[in-house]
Amino acid sequence: MDALAPSPAVAPAPAAEPAPKRVELSSLPQEELGRWVAETLGERPFRAKQLYRWMHQKGATSFEEMTDLSKDLRAKLNAKAKLRPVVKDLEQRSTDGTIKYRFRTEDGKLIESVYMPSEDRKTLCVSTQVGCAMACSFCMTGTLGLKRNLTPGEIVGQIHAVNREVRKNEQLDMDRPLTNLVFMGMGEPLHNFENLKKALAILQSQDGPNFSHRHITVSTVGLVPMIERFGAETDVKLAISLNASCDEQRSKMMPVNRKWNIAALMEACRKFPLRQGRRITFEYVLLEGVNDQDEDADRLIALLQDIPAKVNLIPYNENPGLGFHSVIERRAEAFRELLAQGGVAAFIRKNRGRDISAACGQLANQEAQPVQEDPQPSEFP
Ligand code: SAH
Repeated sequence: MDALAPSPAVAPAPAAEPAPKRVELSSLPQEELGRWVAETLGERPFRAKQLYRWMHQKGATSFEEMTDLSKDLRAKLNAKAKLRPVVKDLEQRSTDGTIKYRFRTEDGKLIESVYMPSEDRKTLCVSTQVGCAMACSFCMTGTLGLKRNLTPGEIVGQIHAVNREVRKNEQLDMDRPLTNLVFMGMGEPLHNFENLKKALAILQSQDGPNFSHRHITVSTVGLVPMIERFGAETDVKLAISLNASCDEQRSKMMPVNRKWNIAALMEACRKFPLRQGRRITFEYVLLEGVNDQDEDADRLIALLQDIPAKVNLIPYNENPGLGFHSVIERRAEAFRELLAQGGVAAFIRKNRGRDISAACGQLANQEAQPVQEDPQPSEFP
């Protein structure tokens, strides 16, 4: 070919288009879903509502189930979007009715949710992260380090999945047998705040599971700046994992205390906007010889003096290898009595599901990545 001749007008072969990323629809709060349905599918708002109800009222895990959407629409949804259900992988039943579920995420990560039925409520303990960055020395999840945040769809997916289980096991003919949610599973909820907020918006929506703010509690290790945002941007209840009565103790047990100490934490609690009659719950895991002395009770009373508070004394589930021990029942009762005498309402949390597994977080730790040598992070967000 003549070198001077114009080169053939052949454009370089276009690089193969990367497959468009499918949107995770179960993570979108209702308004966002409405916008997506209008913009991407060109469908009317009532379609978005149908879709939302299928996902968050019925807990559908595939578009195929959504039988009142046309085949055509379901095919379009499959091409452009996905749901992100978590899949039951293992369950352990306790004689007291507690059921511990292990779920597998789409990318093979393991998380735990714990169902705790009682006479007047059916509570689910929900996870917000795979692993946890907080590295509390007594906690099994803390030994994992943070693997990743759960998406809003994976957070609400735990609730949908357990609703399905409860409907089946207890032969209930209602969409949502669960009555209460506590965010006290794996992870630090306020370290995944954006996704937590979206999950709460879904869980509290009328076209979704429609939980009342009075029936949802979020527990935090004490990420002080996030407590303020949590108070301003959500209306659910707050629990603080205090677990110690002075900084020396708390910094050893909970590295977060080196960044925001007890004084900073109490200040955030005093500023927290409490609805009428509401109190902040303080969780206190009783560890033998560590934080269970009379002086600890005295210091706790002083700390909580000017805060509307109640204390949940938690019997420790022993984690083999972590070196902490549970107190005997008599000591827990004496500790509770000391607090009560000092004007602090305290309750000993019933130890649920002791027979199925000693440790919170133990199930999901099995088969997971190897435990890190030194999981103590030096910085917190
Ligand atoms: N990261 C959040 C939520 C998860 S932990 C937080 O720290 O609040 C929820 C509660 O479980 C915490 O109060 C913690 O002190 C407690 N906990 C952790 N490991 C425990 C164990 N082995 N036995 C009993 N309670 C435990």
